[in-house]
Amino acid sequence: MTDCIFCAIVAGTAPSVIVAEDERTLAFMDINPVSDGHLLVIPKAHSADLLDIPPEDLTAVTLMAQRLARDAVDEFGADGVNLLNSCGADAWQTVFHFHLHVIPRYLDKTRDRLPAVPWTPEVPGDRDLIVSLGSRLAAAV
Ligand code: 5GP
Ligand code: ZN
Repeated sequence: MTDCIFCAIVAGTAPSVIVAEDERTLAFMDINPVSDGHLLVIPKAHSADLLDIPPEDLTAVTLMAQRLARDAVDEFGADGVNLLNSCGADAWQTVFHFHLHVIPRYLDKTRDRLPAVPWTPEVPGDRDLIVSLGSRLAAAV
């Protein structure tokens, strides 16, 4: 796709620090890392987002992300890993070529600038709403 920076990285016409690749995927370091070792895994074929990507590419990207998460723990001594995907501008997506962020996490905050989780898991929701939304979704799948 023209004007897609990640397609340009796949094509080799834009620079990147490539970490790994296979037939369907490419992994490269994020240019604005939020932690040491923050990288991105993308399908080589353009898909805009999670709703658009075909299952074979999603599977391949996810398996590559798992492999690199393990490597980051082993190689960098990460204490944990977050996988992150943003789908849609209102959900923080800024590059509209599907990608998984692989974000190694560290107790040492000089290596990790990710803020605390942006919601409060200990605040219970409205039980009726949870049940009603769950039922709607269950009926829709
Ligand atoms: P999003 O905001 O869509 O979830 O993530 C896009 C990510 O792509 C950001 O973390 C951003 O730093 C990264 N990014 C944007 N442009 C480039 C680029 O040209 N090269 C690399 N390596 N990363 C990029
Ligand atoms: Zn693209």
